[in-house]
Amino acid sequence: MSEPIIHFDHVSRIYTMGHMEVPALLDVSLDVHEGEFVAIVGPSGSGKSTMMNILGCLDRPTDGTYRLAGTAVETLDDDGLAKLRSRTIGFVFQSYNLLPRTSALDNVATPLLYQGVKRSDRIRRSQAALERLGLGDRIFHEPTELSGGQQQRVAIARSLAMNPGVMLFDEVTAALDPETVKEVLVTIKDLAAEGMTCILVTHEMGFAREIADCIYFTDNGVIVEHGPPATFFDQATDCRTRQFLSQIL
Ligand code: ADP
Ligand code: MG
Repeated sequence: MSEPIIHFDHVSRIYTMGHMEVPALLDVSLDVHEGEFVAIVGPSGSGKSTMMNILGCLDRPTDGTYRLAGTAVETLDDDGLAKLRSRTIGFVFQSYNLLPRTSALDNVATPLLYQGVKRSDRIRRSQAALERLGLGDRIFHEPTELSGGQQQRVAIARSLAMNPGVMLFDEVTAALDPETVKEVLVTIKDLAAEGMTCILVTHEMGFAREIADCIYFTDNGVIVEHGPPATFFDQATDCRTRQFLSQIL
């Protein structure tokens, strides 16, 4: 098998707060290969976002190694890490972080400007990304003229226009009303069907079960259980995982 696009080898992240150490992630190892869909689930405060921020190169491990697309992040300075991030990672959060009073098209096109993409290509790529997400008839709408689900799809289009190798989704439907959750999940499902490598933190267990190749369960910063959905949902051996699943299924 080819080298994984993501390789976490005994990664930890300890936050230091004054004299206190908060171990947010402890000794996590995982590989993600191109085209795979990985779901991360677990209770609040269990280290999911800490892990995503490291995966997305917004933060670094305090211990262990992380190789992204063949590069060990610890060999890079902050500038090098930022470049690797913008080349490789598409990161979507619960909050859309769109520019106010700015069209969907310009929201998607602006990060490309900072990548030095020329204007005609910025417009072409941004329009294509918005059309791919079913927003072809909304390109001149500003955020306040779009629904929450549409705004989140603009945020996804903004990441996709950068041609990332991996898409990271951290609780992207958590702020949406129930009817809108589905339209964003369908979008993610379509991306996965097209072969996009995806890592998704979610509380949507039905979706994780339907779509993930592998599910990881975090508890207190530790991966206590992982496996393909059939095994994970029906044959979890860890008691915390079983308890968590019994509360939501
Ligand atoms: P989740 O995304 O699973 O809800 P987080 O990764 O956000 O969990 O947080 C994991 C743990 O790390 C929590 O106990 C949280 O309080 C702590 N933590 C998160 N960010 C920081 C920070 N910047 N400084 C100190 N502790 C943090
Ligand atoms: Mg979180």
